[in-house]
Amino acid sequence: MPDTPDPRCRPQPPHKGLPAEPYDIEAVREDFPILSRLVHERPGRLGKPLVYLDNAASAQKPRAVIDAMTRCMKLEYSNVHRGVHYLSQQTTDAYEAVRDKVQKLINAASREEIIFTHNATEAFNLVASSWGRKTLGPGDEIILSVLEHHANIVPWQLIQAEKGFAIKVIPCDDRGILDLDAYAALLGPRTKLVSVTHGSNVLGTITPVGEIIRLAHAHGVPVMIDGSQAVTHMAVDVQALDADFYVFTGHKLYGPTGIGVLYGRKKILAAMPPYQGGGDMIASVSFNGTTFREPPYRFEAGTPPIIEGIGLGAAIDYVKTLGLANICAHERTLLEYASVRLAAIEGVRLIGTAPGKAAIISFVIEGIHPHDIGMLADQMGVALRVGRHCAEPLMERFGLEATCRASFGLYNTIAEAEALVDAVLAVKEFFR
Ligand SMILES: *Cc1c(COP(=O)(O)O)cnc(C)c1O
Repeated sequence: MPDTPDPRCRPQPPHKGLPAEPYDIEAVREDFPILSRLVHERPGRLGKPLVYLDNAASAQKPRAVIDAMTRCMKLEYSNVHRGVHYLSQQTTDAYEAVRDKVQKLINAASREEIIFTHNATEAFNLVASSWGRKTLGPGDEIILSVLEHHANIVPWQLIQAEKGFAIKVIPCDDRGILDLDAYAALLGPRTKLVSVTHGSNVLGTITPVGEIIRLAHAHGVPVMIDGSQAVTHMAVDVQALDADFYVFTGHKLYGPTGIGVLYGRKKILAAMPPYQGGGDMIASVSFNGTTFREPPYRFEAGTPPIIEGIGLGAAIDYVKTLGLANICAHERTLLEYASVRLAAIEGVRLIGTAPGKAAIISFVIEGIHPHDIGMLADQMGVALRVGRHCAEPLMERFGLEATCRASFGLYNTIAEAEALVDAVLAVKEFFR
C-alpha cells in the first residue's frame, strides 16, 4: 500500500484562485481535540494523521461541548423540572435555556414549539405515532421522496401497517434533483402529509423545501422537513419556510449523541395526543384517568437527556460564533475543489451533482468495490463511509449496491480534500 504524505506537512497544494478562508481554520481545528490524534498506531510505527470525512454520519465535538457537559456533571448536575432545591433549579434553567437557543437557531415563533427527542429518528416516530395514528386512515396518502433516510420512511410504514394509508414517492433525476412536476401531480385531495428531506445524506442535494411547502399548503396539506443534513450547513428559518414540522439531530451539529429536536407548529402540536407516557408529561395522574401537560412537555416523558441538552446548547453557540454562512462558504470551497479533482480521475463517477448541494460527495470507482476503497483509504488515515447510507430506495434508484461517501465539516481543509484525492489515486494504483 503506497503511503500518502502527511497532509499537514506537505507543501501547499495549488489552490490559487480559491476564496480566502472565512475563518481561521487552524485555530478552529485546535478546538477539536480528536483532530490532532493519529490512527492506526502500532508499536514501531507512527500512525497516520486522521482525515475525518464522515461528518454526515456524525460530526466531531469541539472542546466547548465537551467542557460544558463535563462541567454539568461535575458541578451543576441534578434532575430537572421537579426539584425545589438550588441545584435542580440551576440545572433546569440551563436545560431550558437550550430550548431558547434552538428556537433562535431555527427561528421558531415560540419556545413551546421546540420538543427535545433523543435523535431525528425519534422525532419522526413521535410524529408518525401521535399525529399519524390520529390523522391517517384508509384512502389517505402521504408523500415522501426517493431521497429519504430510513428515519423518514420506516416510522410511516409502521403506522401504515395499522392504518392502511398509501405512501407516494417523489422521484429524482440523475443529478439527484427532485422532480417538482411529478410532486405537483401527486398532491391531491387524498394527500394528508408531505414529509421530505431538506438535504440528502447520500447525494448532498439541498431540496427546494420552500417551494415544496408552498405547493402543499395550497392544498391545505402540512409538511414535515428532515433538517438533519441542512442545519449543519446553512441557516434555517422555519417561519420563513412556513414548515409545520422540522427535525434535526444533535450529533451531526457538533453536539453529543442522545439529543434531537422536533419543531412543530403550535396549533398542530396542541391537537396531538401524547407519544409516550410517564413522568414529566402529565398534569395530574389518578387511576381514574390522567391529564397531560401542554406541548412541548406533553411529548417529553421521563427524565430528559439533560447533559446532552447542555452539550447541544454549547454546540449551537459554537457554530453561531463561527457563523453558518461562513461554515457554508468554507464547505462550498472544499466541495468544489474535491469534486473537480475527483471527477477528473479516470473511472471515478460522482453520484449526485445537483447545483447548490451540500458538501457531501458520493462516488464509485469503476471495477472497485466501495468497501475495498473505504478500507484502503482508512489505511491512509482517510475516514470515509461506504455502503447504503440508510437510504436503500435511493441506492436502488441509482442502480447501486453501495457508494463511497466523503462528507466535509466546518473543520476540514483543502489539504484533507487533497488527501482524499491521493487516497483514491492510490486505491486505483493498488487495483491496477
Ligand atoms: C443521520 C440522519 C438521520 C437520522 O439521524 P439519527 O441521529 O440517527 O436519528 C435522519 N435523516 C438524515 C437526512 C440523516 O442524515
